[in-house]
Amino acid sequence: MTQIIALTNQKGGVGKTTTAVNLAASLAALDRRVLLVDLDPQGHATMGSGADKHDLEGSVLDVVLGGKRPTEVILDCPQAGYALLPGNGDLTAAEVELLDGNEGRERCLVKALEEVDGEYDVVLIDCPPSLNMLTVNALTAADGVLIPLQCEFYALEGLSALLDTVEQIKDSVNPQIEIYGILRTMFDARNSLTRDVSKQLRDYFGDALLKTTIPRNVRVAEAPSHGLPVTKYARFSRGSQAHRVLAKELIRRLSL
Ligand code: ADP
Ligand code: MG
Repeated sequence: MTQIIALTNQKGGVGKTTTAVNLAASLAALDRRVLLVDLDPQGHATMGSGADKHDLEGSVLDVVLGGKRPTEVILDCPQAGYALLPGNGDLTAAEVELLDGNEGRERCLVKALEEVDGEYDVVLIDCPPSLNMLTVNALTAADGVLIPLQCEFYALEGLSALLDTVEQIKDSVNPQIEIYGILRTMFDARNSLTRDVSKQLRDYFGDALLKTTIPRNVRVAEAPSHGLPVTKYARFSRGSQAHRVLAKELIRRLSL
């Protein structure tokens, strides 16, 4: 069975795309068949996977709006080790069209992914930094949500809006959706604020707070400019190791 996981947090710069790319590569390295869906108009997951967002035959936009089949658009990323449903700025248009659309507009991505059901063990969806109709499409399609966040003072702000949105989706179009995990990114255990926020997260989320943390590591930040996951760009870096540990934690938790 395919597990669909949405990486979401309406805050920008918390590590959604970084986690999506490096988790995809780490799961692929552990022999899971992985599809990464870039649902952010910024197209950073596309670029970070080694594809050129300005030179695409087709994108997730064509699939979401029903013009193309996923198989016509999905790219193989041999260096990164997974398949990519790429995205770019055209998705901004999709947002508008989806908003204008009629009933069922939140199910466009579900329908598209049904066509590749069973072909992948894991589908990771990199969401845009907002709770817009693209994110609603991701949450409607997902079995579970992974929420990357930075342990800083404002980390918890906005989290309740996200949790409310997930609840609304659960009560309406996707009763099975679960919070699969809260992931602490750019983590620095020496910082006392980090420890305070960690404690709050543990008190509130309990088991859903993932044990693995991703350290701040310069190799992680450099890797996208080479179009590679950090696990390929700097295999032995701390950032690379942490993403491998994260993949193993999720494999155990979710029986991937
Ligand atoms: P989001 O997708 O949530 O907007 P990104 O994954 O794009 O966030 O990360 C935001 C910025 O932080 C990027 O420049 C990225 O390279 C950097 N970054 C993310 N994770 C790390 C890390 N563990 N160590 C160092 N830099 C990181
Ligand atoms: Mg991003």
